[in-house]
Amino acid sequence: MIEVKNVVKKYGDFTAVENINFNIKEGEIVGLLGPNGAGKSTTMNMLTGFIEPTEGEIIINGYDITKKSQKAKKQIGYMPEGVPLYNDLTVKEFVSYMADLKMISKRDKKENIRKVIEQTNLSDVQNKLIRNLSRGYKQRVSMAGALVGAPKILILDEPTVGLDPKQITEIRTLIKSLGKSHTIILSSHILSEVSQICEKVIIINKGKIIAIASPKELEEKVKNENSVQVTIEEKEKDIEKITTSIKGVKQIKFVKDNEDGTKEYLIISEENTDIRKEIFEKYAKEDITIYELKKQEATLEDAFMKLIEGNKEGEEKNVGNI
Ligand code: ADP
Ligand code: MG
Repeated sequence: MIEVKNVVKKYGDFTAVENINFNIKEGEIVGLLGPNGAGKSTTMNMLTGFIEPTEGEIIINGYDITKKSQKAKKQIGYMPEGVPLYNDLTVKEFVSYMADLKMISKRDKKENIRKVIEQTNLSDVQNKLIRNLSRGYKQRVSMAGALVGAPKILILDEPTVGLDPKQITEIRTLIKSLGKSHTIILSSHILSEVSQICEKVIIINKGKIIAIASPKELEEKVKNENSVQVTIEEKEKDIEKITTSIKGVKQIKFVKDNEDGTKEYLIISEENTDIRKEIFEKYAKEDITIYELKKQEATLEDAFMKLIEGNKEGEEKNVGNI
C-alpha cells in the first residue's frame, strides 16, 4: 500500500530524514514513534505529497507521489499536527471546504459531508463555529477533514497531543474503528500511545529508522535483560566496585537520592539470571543495609530508550572511526 525507498529530506545542509525505508500493507495500523524533532512530521509531509523528498521514492497504492501526485494524493487523508485554524467556519463549512479542496464532485459532496460528520460524531455541533469547540472536538473536526473523499489511507500527525485523558480515549476509539476500513499511519512521541493502537511500530530518531517491530517484539527485545532495583542506606562505600564484583552483574546505575537519606540504584545483570540472592549476600557481607530489593519488569518505554541509546552509541562509534 505504501512503499518508502531510500528517502532523504534535507533542509539546506541539515538532513531531517536520512535514507529511510519501510513498507506498509493494506489495512495495517502503523505507529511512527520518536522524540520531538525525530523527523516524524517531515516523513508524513512527504508521504502526503506536501513536501518533496530530496532523494528516494514514495509509492502510494501504486502511484509515485512525485510523478503521479494527483492520483497518489487521492488515496490519502491527512490530519496535520495541531488543530484546524479555520476558526470562523462552522464544522460543516470546514468539511465542505475540505471537500472542495479535494475536488469532490457536486453530486457526491452532500453525502460525503454527511458521512464524515457522522463517522466523527460531530452531528451535534456541525453548525457551531470551530472557535467555540473544545480541543477534543477540534481534533475530531480535523479528523473529519482527513476523511473527506473516502481515502484508503489515513495519515494522522500526533492525533492525541494536547488532549485530556477522556478525549484521548475517544480519539483512540475512533482511530481503532477507522482502522477496520483504512490503512493508518499515526505519529506519536509516546510509546504507550502507539502500543495501544498500532500493530506495527516504526521507531525513528534523528531522522533515522532504528527499529521496525510489533509492540510485542519491542517488549521481547528487552525482556531477557534483567534488572533489579535496590534501595540502600548511604554509606562511604564503593558501591560500584562492590556490585560489579558480583558474578553476573553487568552494570549498576544510580537512580536517585531519597528524602530519607537512602539511595536508589538499578543493577543490570546478564540475561536469564536472577541475582537478587547474590546481591543480598554480598551487601550483607559488606555491611550495606538494603531497604528494598525488587526485580524490575522491562516496559516498552525501556525498550524505546534502549533502542535510542543503542543508536547514539552507534553514532559515537562511527565518529570515533573517522
Ligand atoms: P518531529 O515531527 O518528529 O518532531 P520534524 O519532522 O518536525 O520532527 O522535524 C525534524 C527536524 O527537521 C527538526 O530538527 C526540525 O527542526 C527540522 N525541520 C523541520 N521542518 C523544517 C524546515 N521547514 N526547515 C528547516 N528545518 C526543519
Ligand atoms: Mg511533528
